[in-house]
Amino acid sequence: MPPTKEERREALKAVYHQAKGCVNCPQLAATRTTVVFGNGNADADLMFVGEAPGANEDRQGLPFVGQAGKLLDTLLGEIGLSRPEVWVCNVLKCRPPGNRDPHPAEIEACQDYLLRQVELIEPRVICTLGNFATKLLRADPTGITRLHGQEEVRVIGARAVRLYPIFHPAAALYTPSNVEVLRTDFARLPELLAMAPPPQPGREEPPEPAVPEPELAERMEVPALESVAVAVDDRQMGLF
Ligand code: URA
Repeated sequence: MPPTKEERREALKAVYHQAKGCVNCPQLAATRTTVVFGNGNADADLMFVGEAPGANEDRQGLPFVGQAGKLLDTLLGEIGLSRPEVWVCNVLKCRPPGNRDPHPAEIEACQDYLLRQVELIEPRVICTLGNFATKLLRADPTGITRLHGQEEVRVIGARAVRLYPIFHPAAALYTPSNVEVLRTDFARLPELLAMAPPPQPGREEPPEPAVPEPELAERMEVPALESVAVAVDDRQMGLF
């Protein structure tokens, strides 16, 4: 039996607690203020994966709360979505000092947290923001300039998703013409979300039941997971 939403959310909380004490990267563990695990809807169809927390994110413990985050919020709003409806996280959960690029060893050390997030949130679409997330999740060095705006089905961990690379919002802050490119790429997200989820590896489609199974009928009545940001503490994760 696949885990319920509630079971997945509880498991995600356990991963969060594990990440909070992570010392896999001694330098990052020594210099960080907080571990920025991610936040939003723990059952989101759409997940964004950025690069690594910056200074604001490190202080607040939340991803994309600075200028790049404001642009992300604006672009989300333009397609009728808001942060509490999606999951936002990064390749690295700790800030690299001075906002330097993540080191390959750090990306490797941190990737299990991201894979667990994908496994437990079960997004249909993963939008990678910029080069680091795109290269990691495609397991390929092709850069974002060539790939942005082109979706493909990829298996991440054990989960098939529609992977959709777009420019990092911070890149658009530095190069204003990229804002329009980002906006155009964002505009395709509703269409990708409306597509049937990609078939999962090793999972055969069950035959159509003649009558709705009680379990399915019950599940349809379950309200969406709440993910209301209330204060600068664990509850802001959307998990608590
Ligand atoms: N840039 C990122 O990649 N992630 C953040 O959380 C903030 C800025």
